[in-house]
Parts: sequence; structure tokens; C-alpha cells
Amino acid sequence: MTLQRCNLLLIYGSQTGQAKSIAEDIKAKAESQNYDVEMLSMDESVEKMPWKDFRFVIFITSSTGDGDPPENACIFWRKIRSKDLNEDYLKHLEYALLGLGDTNYTTFLGYPKSVEKQLQKLGAKQFYKSAWADDAVGLEIVVDPWIENLWPALENQLAHPHTLPDLVSVVKVQTESPNTNIPEVKIISKVDDQPLAMPVQKEVEEELEKCVVALASLKVSVSPLSECDLKVPLLPVSYLELKFNAELMFFPEDVLRKPMPSSRSAVFQARIKSLKKLTGEKALKTTLQATLEFCPAEIEYQPGDSIGVCCANSAEEVDSLLRRLNMIEQADTPFKLRIKEEFAALKSGAKPKYEVPSHLPTLATLRFVLTRCCEIRSVPRKSLVRILAEYSSNELEKRRLMELCSLQGSDDYTRLVRQPELNVLDFLNTFPSCNPPIERLLEQLPRLLARPYSLSSSPLQDSKSASFVFNVVEFPIQDGRTYERKGVATGELYRMFDKMKNTDSAESGASNSSCREYSLSIFLRSSNGFCLPKSSETPLILIGPGTGVAPFLGFLAHREELLKSNPNLPCGPVWLFYGCRTRDQDYLFKNELERWHSIGILTRLLVTFSREANPPQPKYVQDLIRQYTTPLVKLIEKGACIYVCGDAKNMAKDVMQALISAFQTARQMEEEEAKKAVIQLQIEKRYLQDIWT
Ligand code: FAD
Repeated sequence: MTLQRCNLLLIYGSQTGQAKSIAEDIKAKAESQNYDVEMLSMDESVEKMPWKDFRFVIFITSSTGDGDPPENACIFWRKIRSKDLNEDYLKHLEYALLGLGDTNYTTFLGYPKSVEKQLQKLGAKQFYKSAWADDAVGLEIVVDPWIENLWPALENQLAHPHTLPDLVSVVKVQTESPNTNIPEVKIISKVDDQPLAMPVQKEVEEELEKCVVALASLKVSVSPLSECDLKVPLLPVSYLELKFNAELMFFPEDVLRKPMPSSRSAVFQARIKSLKKLTGEKALKTTLQATLEFCPAEIEYQPGDSIGVCCANSAEEVDSLLRRLNMIEQADTPFKLRIKEEFAALKSGAKPKYEVPSHLPTLATLRFVLTRCCEIRSVPRKSLVRILAEYSSNELEKRRLMELCSLQGSDDYTRLVRQPELNVLDFLNTFPSCNPPIERLLEQLPRLLARPYSLSSSPLQDSKSASFVFNVVEFPIQDGRTYERKGVATGELYRMFDKMKNTDSAESGASNSSCREYSLSIFLRSSNGFCLPKSSETPLILIGPGTGVAPFLGFLAHREELLKSNPNLPCGPVWLFYGCRTRDQDYLFKNELERWHSIGILTRLLVTFSREANPPQPKYVQDLIRQYTTPLVKLIEKGACIYVCGDAKNMAKDVMQALISAFQTARQMEEEEAKKAVIQLQIEKRYLQDIWT
């Protein structure tokens, strides 16, 4: 069947750039198949609504926060829910929708699912089944086959309108075994080119296959992947052109002052008043508290608010990357970045086909963009791996890179690249023949995002100062990582702590350090509603293990300050469920919490220690909650607000389950009914979460 050429509208809602980059992939593929594509962000698309020029629209959108629209989708979201729209507003439209989410969050895919509902309410028809990708296990598991099958679905729709094809799942490549009695499993080391064949007993075949797969490494593949015909992504178009010019003047401050996404305030400098280590020497994780001073500006914040910390990649790592790319000599020479002429030449008024990514300044230096603009730690998407393959001169390395970005290599990609969170430098270190031009990396590396931190202070303590608490994230050399590193932001803060400690220890010997020369670029983030209720009489149930206790310190300090100025302020009970590993290594803020408890600011201080066996006690906060079922439900019935803060991976879901069980027990309810009761609390904004992965 010959494919009719038609117009496609591609609409994306993107917070971190993933949805946009997937949309860009789809655009490139669609264009290679002769579709005419227009790509717009959700907000940009509003102006052209109801998109009458298009029959087919493809939506790719993520969710942010508690199932909220991403930053470039808020106007769109308001528009499609507008009461003025008739039920047939989008009747002419056929759509496909790809939702990106993360099952670590309780409202998995909240926004994409709501968009789908709303599209259908406005009369739009699905021409291809929606797919829901989960970042917790790897978006590509769903995204790749969905894109793969989008084209036959479109073709089918053009040929036979209004039939809905199923999403075809990824075809698993089977091990070929010519002799059925004695299967032969080949372990092929493509890099060393040393095929190793061994006959095995049939009954152990399954076990062996598992071992064989486990033998694959980033550099070395095994059969069947090493032998099969690969389906690889299209090579992304090279559209950026970079020209060095030592005569140009570049001022980094002009770039750094630009507002960041999700910011409520401008980006400003805050002096680091102190960086204090809160954990003992033997603690499993190192936790620090940073206290900032906003001098001379004051910022207006409430307890429970969070800030964005604009971080920088480490100088050492940027140097390693520049050296590996043979660009160290030009690291500080200003350059101009623009779209290659063939893509920039346009009919007047038309939208350019390619644009310089918005996070890249058009005048800068390589050291600057790699330090402040690009997420050099991001896991290379398959499109980047495809580019790396293109620029590898060694055939074996090229083949392995092709495998890693192929449809058939998805399992290897997930296990060997995504799970250990490898980055582009790990790839370049592992594949020495790979020498991509820097422009190709700039086209692919996403924007370096600010890291959010919940404030652990109250403005009533000191309006010009605020603090936050964080764990230093560590990535040891293992699982393909070619060098040891700390998290981008927490590593940068740890390096400052280390330097301050060394400067200070000569004077005081203390691990509480302060230094004039250290500052951070920060901004106040838009409030997510995680704040104290209007009435101080509302009972509070605070649940926050580890650094999740941070915003509650702000809540409690705030209440103490309010009581200082008004000792007769009527206050409802406050319960804190708190979890640490051990009493002597990481019971963060022990003294403050016990003091607040002793003066009645904190009604119940319930702490559990997960690594202490004696005396026997509940392990985690969720276990502790199960011990207080009846009084907790009573507090909730009296109007309590529940706040959950910290790890989204396990804790937040387990806490929610514990509360569902509490309702079941205390009110003799079925599980479904208890779930509804918890959802009702969320709707009433009495169950609030500030969680992160
Ligand atoms: P990156 O270089 O970005 O590495 C991130 C990777 O490290 C992740 O992919 C993950 O695998 C791993 N990782 C991330 N966080 C942790 C962690 N805590 N422990 C172990 N591994 C981790 N963090 C705090 O410590 N305190 C806070 O008060 C806090 N508040 C937050 C509030 C919000 C609204 C959000 C969304 C996040 C918050 N975070 C907080 C998480 C924080 O923003 C960063 O993700 C974290 O500090 C890692 O940043 P990084 O640049 O050092 O690590």
C-alpha cells in the first residue's frame, strides 16, 4: 500500500525535556516517512486551536509534582477545560497519546490521563492506543515499541479510517538452537572477537541463558543480540554549527541571571552562612545542613516552601570531558552557536525547522556550557547512543553501540546503561574509538536543571536567612561507571563543605563551617501547597523519615515563633512520625525535636530506628503508623492535615497503604472504601505530599 502524505501535529508537554526530546525523535521519523509535521509545545498549540488544519494529532506529555501539568502545558490545560468549549470542539480530530510518568509517585501519569479524558470529552477520537511509560523502570520499554508501531497505525488509519489497532509489544529475539537435543549457546565477545562455544545439557539451558545474558557488559554483548539484525533509531540530524572566535566577548553573568523553570522569584545569589554535617562518621549516608543568607535582599517564603539550587558540574569532570573530546585547548575561547545554513534558510514567517536549544547561549565558551548549561550526567538517550556509534571508528565498538540503541538491545540498554545511570563520559571512556564532534553532544544533552530542596526553617526566625538539609548522593565505580562521583548538586555542596572545613579547622576544629567566599545561585520555587493550614488549631500529622523531616522543622520553628509573640495562641495537636537508621549516627535534629516535645510544641514525637534490633520496635514510619491506627483515625476525624515528605520510591506508597489499612481497621471498612477515604483527603488538600526520588 502506498502511503498518503498527510499533515501531522505533534504536541508535547515537557518539564525536564524528556517529552520534548521524544517528540523530536518522532518528528524526525515522521519526516523521514514523508509526513508533514508541525511540532509545538502544549501552550504554543493553544493559539492554533482547535487545530482545524490537522486530522491527526500526536500528544507526548509528562506529569509533574502531584499529577500536575508540566511548565509549558498550563495554558493548554486551562484551555481544554474551559466551560466555553462545546462537546464537539475536537470532533474532527484523531489523536494518539504517549504519557510519561513515574510509578514512584502516587499520582502516576495524573496529567496525561486527565488530558486523554478531556480530549475524549471534546469529541476527539483515538486512532492508536495510548501508552503509559514509566520512568521508574525505563521509559524506552514502552516508548520504543509505541513509536515503532505508530507508523503502521497511521497507515492503517489512512487506509481504513476508524479502526483501532492494538499496541504491538516488543518482539523478543529468541536464542537460535539448531540442534534441539543438545542446544548450543554461543557466548560471543564481539570486542575481543573470540566466539566461545560450549555444548550444554538441555535441562540447564534456561539457567544458562540467564547467566549468559548477565555476562553482557557495556562493551561486550552476547548471543543472540550479538548476532541479530538490528533495528536502530534514525541518525538524528546534525543541525548546530559552532564557530570559535577569540575576538568575541562573553559575559557569563548575562546567562546566569535568566529565570529558571518553576521559579517564583528571580535567580539570586545567597551567601552560604554555614554548612554543617549532621550525621556521625559511621553513618551510611552523609547528611549536611546548609544555611543561606539572602543579603541584602529578603525573600518571602513560608515554611514548607522549596528553593531551586542552580548547580554546576564539577570542574574536574568538565575537564575530563573536554580532554576526551580533544577540545581542552578551545575550552575558554568564545564561540558563536547557530543553526546550520541549510536549516536556517526559511520562507519568511515560517517556523524554523530547528532551533538552538533554549538552554544554550548562542555566545559562550565550551567550559561554560558544559559546566552551567548541560546535564552532562544525564543517561544518554538512544538517539545519542546512535550518534556515538556513528562516530566510532572501531567496527566492534560501533556494533556494540548500535546494539545498545537498537530495539533488540532494549534489555541491555535498561540494565547496563539506564539502571547504573551511566553518562556520556562513561561511554567515551568505554569506547575509545568514539570521537563525536562537540556540536553533536550539544544537540543532545538536556538542560542542567536546578535541584529542589525543601526549606527547613521559618522566616519568623530570621527573614534574611533559610536552611535546607540534604543527603550527599554517592555513585561508586561499579556496573560500568568509569569513575567515582557524587551527585551534581550535593557533590558541589560537599566540596564546598570540605574546603570550608579545612579552612575553618585550622581555626576552630569544628565541623560547622562558614565562609564568606561561598555562595549559591538560588530561586524560590512555586508553592506546591505543602504549607501549614490557615488555623493553628488544625491537628497536624507529620510523616517524614530521614531528610524528609526538613519542612517539619520549619513548621515547628514557625509555631514556636508564633507562640513567642502570642502565648495564648490556640494550637491543635502535632504528631511527628520520624525514622532514622541508628540513634547515634543519623538521628537528625534530635535535640531540637526533643526540646519542642518537652515544651509541648510537638504533642507526640514518634521515632523509629530501622537498623537497631534492640529493643524490638517497628522498622519504618509506616510500621509505626500501623501501631497508632485508632488515635490517628480519630485525629483525622477531628480535621487533621496529613503531611508526607521524603523518599517517593518506597516510603510514600507504604505510608499511604498504612493509612488505608488504618481506615479499614478503625472504621471496619473494605479496602476500596478505605482507599476512597484517603483519596477524599487528597481532594480536600488534607493529605499533602512533598516527595522525591
Ligand atoms: P544528581 O546528580 O542529580 O543524581 C541524581 C540521582 O541520584 C538520581 O537519579 C537518583 O538515582 C540518585 N538520588 C537522588 N536523590 C537521592 C537521595 N536523596 N539519596 C540517594 N540517591 C539519590 N533532597 C534532599 O536531600 N533534601 C531535600 O530537602 C529535598 N527536597 C526536595 C524537594 C523536592 C520538591 C524535590 C523534587 C526533590 C527534593 N530533593 C531533596 C531531592 C534533590 O532535589 C536532589 O534530587 C538530590 O539532592 C540529588 O541531587 P544531585 O544533583 O546531588 O544528584
